[in-house]
Amino acid sequence: MSAQIIDGNLLSQQLRQDVAARAAALTAKGNQPGLAVILVGADPASQVYVRNKVKACEDNGVFSLLEKYQADMTEAALLARIAALNNDPKIHGILVQMPLPKHIDPTKVIEAISPRKDVDGYSVLSAGELLTGLPGFRPCTPYGCMKLIESTGTKIAGKHAVVIGRSNTVGKPMALLLLQANATVTICHSGTADLGYHTRQADIVVAATGRRNTLTADMIKPGAIVIDVGINRDDNGKLCGDVDFAAAKEVAGHISPVPGGVGPMTITMLLVNTIEAAERETN
Ligand code: NDP
Repeated sequence: MSAQIIDGNLLSQQLRQDVAARAAALTAKGNQPGLAVILVGADPASQVYVRNKVKACEDNGVFSLLEKYQADMTEAALLARIAALNNDPKIHGILVQMPLPKHIDPTKVIEAISPRKDVDGYSVLSAGELLTGLPGFRPCTPYGCMKLIESTGTKIAGKHAVVIGRSNTVGKPMALLLLQANATVTICHSGTADLGYHTRQADIVVAATGRRNTLTADMIKPGAIVIDVGINRDDNGKLCGDVDFAAAKEVAGHISPVPGGVGPMTITMLLVNTIEAAERETN
């Protein structure tokens, strides 16, 4: 039997209705939630990402401020802009689109964002809050993956979850969120000796490598939940994930597609974090 497709667009729509209602309530109290999006340089993929983020704000009653700068902007000038936005009461969330040009240190930039406005959840403080189980901003992509997993109605506690990938923005926070939900978690990476050995034991697999066909059907336990974070191109230039979707959906119980799975959820969780930031500042 074919897997149930986890529809990230549909779940996003549902969550964005709640976002819009909360945004309207905040606006009625005179504190419309606001997100500043900063893009340095003209990376084509980044331009699409920031456009989508700004549009999602506009569609859901969140004020957005898009600031685009030339690739030769100095690090000092960017840090000064962030300092100004940290003090701007109309702005509750600040997002600096990655990657930055090579002459700018991304860590310095992320750490310059006020912890109250770190809606990407990339700062060391936010990472520490997640690690220690304190409330705080969760990185949007793994946060969205958790919502996708929860949407299947499967109890996460007690399940074996395997996360493939250990980046600071996806793999590691994903593993911590699953741990927090009482899954037993295994983290795999490029040094893992036998990836399939681990994934075949998994009730939940999250693939976040950025490599096509990292997870093939023979590596999936029948009935497992498969979440595909990867964004890749196939030989025909078509968007695809890390999972061999066509074959994997014949084995998995639930599977998220690419596109239409994790992608829309990432932006939705950015909106959720921005609303939460604004709600914290509103009486
Ligand atoms: P990184 O390149 O930072 O990390 C990739 C991770 O995958 C690394 O930990 C790497 O291991 C591991 N890896 C690579 N190849 C293999 C392999 N063959 N077997 C096992 N592990 C492997 O990428 P990100 O975490 O930033 O992103 C991952 C993917 O998700 C990308 O395709 C990215 O575009 C996509 N993405 C999608 C988003 C969305 O909204 N849909 C948002 C963010 C990312 P090691 O650490 O050993 O090098």
